[in-house]
Amino acid sequence: MSDEWSDEGSEATFSDTAKEDIHALYHESCAICLFQLPAGEKFAHLIASSEDGDEAIELGVYLGLIESSYERLSAENGFLLCGTCNASYFSLHNVALSPPPIVLRYILQSLHKPENFTRPVYEICQSLVYYSHYPQNAPDDMKDVLPYVGLYSLVTLNPVAVRWCAIMSMRFPPLSTIENFRFVPASGDADPSSPDNARIFDALSITSNMPISLGIIPLTDARSEEYTQKRYWRLPFKLEAVLTEFLARTNRATCHARDSEQYYSARIRTRCSTLKYQLEDMEAGIDWPGDGEGEGGVVANKPDVLPNVLEVRVGVGSEAFG
Ligand SMILES: [Zn+2]
Repeated sequence: MSDEWSDEGSEATFSDTAKEDIHALYHESCAICLFQLPAGEKFAHLIASSEDGDEAIELGVYLGLIESSYERLSAENGFLLCGTCNASYFSLHNVALSPPPIVLRYILQSLHKPENFTRPVYEICQSLVYYSHYPQNAPDDMKDVLPYVGLYSLVTLNPVAVRWCAIMSMRFPPLSTIENFRFVPASGDADPSSPDNARIFDALSITSNMPISLGIIPLTDARSEEYTQKRYWRLPFKLEAVLTEFLARTNRATCHARDSEQYYSARIRTRCSTLKYQLEDMEAGIDWPGDGEGEGGVVANKPDVLPNVLEVRVGVGSEAFG
């Protein structure tokens, strides 16, 4: 029997080296519920190696979310999932991982800055990751976002299907709070419902002698008032890869709760599409209504922007961390 959860319609698998790397990273634990897994645990793909994943990558590359060189069979696209988390939730697309709303909001705001007209989203993501290591040097408007870089939300995509469901964790983390641009352990009397406090699920920090601590991860508010408490998963994925996968799963036709992961990802997708169309039309000599007239974001900067467009197209002048 294979040791990988299959992506429907694909036989592509991780190499033995990639499996060793994933195994070492996740300390033999499910990345979501942190249950210790028995020998023969299974590997999962963040972006599927099947046609589903082909479509996510195709869309992501077109919109500038992810680099075409992203390798779905490398360790950075893999994680460990237990049978319950995979079969009941991930493989049925009942849940998905997403960057937290504050990170998505920053990306969306960046896409509205005229100087970022031709900047791919993956460069914005890489800039966030870079400055998360050097927060003191980060631009002021980025600093509040940095504690959340490297953390991901577990988003319920199908609340009807999982209305009465909750995931049990055997390593339920204590509360953390933000100090000096990082999450650190909170004091014993910290309020779990405060938006400044969160539980950080971190398979990478698990040790074999860590005591068992049971807790519930509610998937909708039907089961628990604790649903609105903040929970994040610290996972070594590329930010742009989680965004690409989540965006491919977000239904743009649905009205999403304001400030939710789906709300921002739908807008990032729309913004990227608009910029892409606008760029293509400018290159074809087609003007958009209002071009060059004060209002309207990027169009107001058209004379400055066009040379940059050409530079990016021939592969120069693109600064990753500018
Ligand atoms: Zn699990």
